Formats: sequence, C-alpha cells, structure tokens
Amino acid sequence: MIIDLYDKLSGILPEENIIKDEDMSRHTTFRVGGPADYFLKIDTYKALKEVLDLFRTEGLLMQEDYYILGNGSNLLVSDGGYRGAVMSLGGEFAECSMESSNVIKAGAAALNVVVANLARDNSLTGFEFAHGIPGSIGGALVMNAGAYGGEMKQVVRSVAAIDENGNEIILKGDELEFGYRTSVFKKKKCVITSCLIELTPGDRKEIENTMNELKEKRVSKQPLEYPSAGSTFKRPEGYFAGKLIEDAGLRGYSVGGAQVSEKHCGFVVNKGTATATDVYKLIVDVQNRVFEVSGVKLTPEVILLGDFKA
Ligand SMILES: Cc1cc2nc3c(=O)[nH]c(=O)nc-3n(C[C@H](O)[C@H](O)[C@H](O)COP(=O)(O)OP(=O)(O)OC[C@H]3O[C@@H](n4cnc5c(N)ncnc54)[C@H](O)[C@@H]3O)c2cc1C
Repeated sequence: MIIDLYDKLSGILPEENIIKDEDMSRHTTFRVGGPADYFLKIDTYKALKEVLDLFRTEGLLMQEDYYILGNGSNLLVSDGGYRGAVMSLGGEFAECSMESSNVIKAGAAALNVVVANLARDNSLTGFEFAHGIPGSIGGALVMNAGAYGGEMKQVVRSVAAIDENGNEIILKGDELEFGYRTSVFKKKKCVITSCLIELTPGDRKEIENTMNELKEKRVSKQPLEYPSAGSTFKRPEGYFAGKLIEDAGLRGYSVGGAQVSEKHCGFVVNKGTATATDVYKLIVDVQNRVFEVSGVKLTPEVILLGDFKA
C-alpha cells in the first residue's frame, strides 16, 4: 500500500528525501537490520504535517505502517527489514537554541551531545548526564534516557508533538508519565517535534569537568569500540542486568557475530559480522539462561522493529 504513495509523497518531499529499500544497518548503532520499504527524510514542520496528514487520510498507522526513527541507538531492526516507511527527522528539527536564560528549546532530532554542549556554553548545569548518550532528544524523551543519576524527567519542562489525529499538542508534568526508561510516548502514538529543557545556572568549568569525568567512565567501562545499542536489558528491580548475566556464566557468550561483551556483560555487541537474528537469538538465550540460574526475567530495553523468530 505504501508503494502506491510515491507520487503523493513526491508532491511533499524532494525526491532525494524519498528513498526506497533503505538498508537500516546504516541507521542503527548496532549496524544490523534489513531494508525499510521507504525511508523518508523530513526536514521541516510543514512537510511533517503534510506527510502525517497523507498517511492518516490513507488509513496508514504509526508502528504498523510508519515508524519514527531517532538516532537508532536503541533499536534492533530485523534482517527482513520493515514493510513500511521509516521517517527520519532532520533540518529544522535538529536545531536547538536558548529560549530564555536557563531554558533550551531543543528540536526532536537535535543530538543530546549538541544540546549538552549548548548548556555548557551557557553555563547551565543539569544536562551533563546526557552528553554521552548517543541519541536524539526525541529518543531520549521516549525512553526517559538517563545515566549517572540524571534522567530526562528531571529537566524537561514541556514537550511539543503532533498526535495521531494531526493535532499539535503540548505535554508537561505528570502528563509525560516519565518512569524508568519509559514515558507516555511508549503508548501514545505521536511524533515529538521539540521540547523545552529547564536547567540551573552553574560554573562552565565544573560542567565541562563533569562531562569529561563521565566520558572517561564510559570509555573505561563500556565496549564503545564495538557497535551496540548500549544496555541491552532494563535493570530489574533490586538487581543489575550485567551482574545477573555474568553470574549465569555468559560473559563472552556468542551467537554468530553477536556477543555478550567481555568488558561489560550488560551490553550485547556486534563483533563485526552479526545479523539481527544473531542479536535476537543471543538476547533470548541470555533471558532463558539468566531465568534458569536466578529466576529473574530480563526485559530488553532495546526496541525491536520487524519480524523476529528465535
Ligand atoms: C554506546 C551506547 C551507550 C548508551 N548509553 C545509554 C545511557 O547511558 N542511558 C540511556 O538511557 N540510554 C543509553 N543508550 C541507549 C540509547 O542511546 C537511548 O535509549 C537513546 O535515548 C535513544 O535515542 P535515539 O534518538 O537513538 O532513539 P531511537 O533508538 O532511534 O528510538 C528510540 C525510540 O524513540 C522513538 N522516537 C525517536 N524519536 C522520536 C520522535 N521524534 N517522536 C516520536 N518517537 C520518537 C522511536 O520510535 C523509538 O521508539 C546507549 C546506547 C549506546 C549505543
């Protein structure tokens, strides 16, 4: 059905922004995944509204027929790919600027590192935690991304989005339903366009030092030399996923080119030749083995897109 939309899409987007059969391994930090039928690069608010209006009038649904990609750093796309349109925001959505002396307006496609650097340059503290999280603001809001004691929940004042009826909405406070690696956006189908991040005046040098310290921690503890999606599993209450995996004897355990990192058991890494099926089978094996040994059921933090069979 999506194939038939080409002519209509080309009335909205420049032709070079409508890519057929785009290999998703190019757009995920795991560096695996098959083709998406369509990959749409959307650079303006006007184009986004028009594309969403078109999909809605054609009866096409979010998740089933189209998917919003952030920076692909928490995503596993199946080897068979995705039979719909992946939408990738850029252009004006990648911008961030000072809204007032302590509030940053960040587009959904702005990278966390860019927003963190803007905060540092304006001597604002509170966003240092996100400097090393390799995703976009949109992805960070959906996931309530967090690290080293910080999380999006602590700094987000409001989020602007387009809901599934095409309405522009602003969500704030409890409406955002932030929790551990979750938010209202996990269940509410909408496209986040921007947010306001409220920070506290601080000392530029201290902010920079904190960012550097956190970066050193990541480099020393995480297998950043291999493609991955960060922590593969959520932290089960009262446990650490990495410790449970290590205690189950799975350090270095491999399926094809996917491996439980030798450096940090909480990470599944692509040693270079992994397929999405390898990664998925490894995830299932780890879940089963950890459950056998400890009775704890690990839940993936990584989001799956496409069809998977163990
Ligand atoms: C090396 C490494 C280290 C990591 N460390 C951390 C860490 O310390 N803490 C942490 O929390 N995470 C970490 N992660 C995981 C990942 O970076 C985060 O989950 C990040 O927030 C995902 O953002 P993204 O832009 O890549 O989103 P994606 O992976 O592209 O998408 C994530 C979800 O957000 C949705 N989404 C994205 N943009 C929008 C939008 N505009 N509107 C609606 N929905 C949208 C997608 O549909 C998807 O459901 C790490 C990953 C790697 C590879």
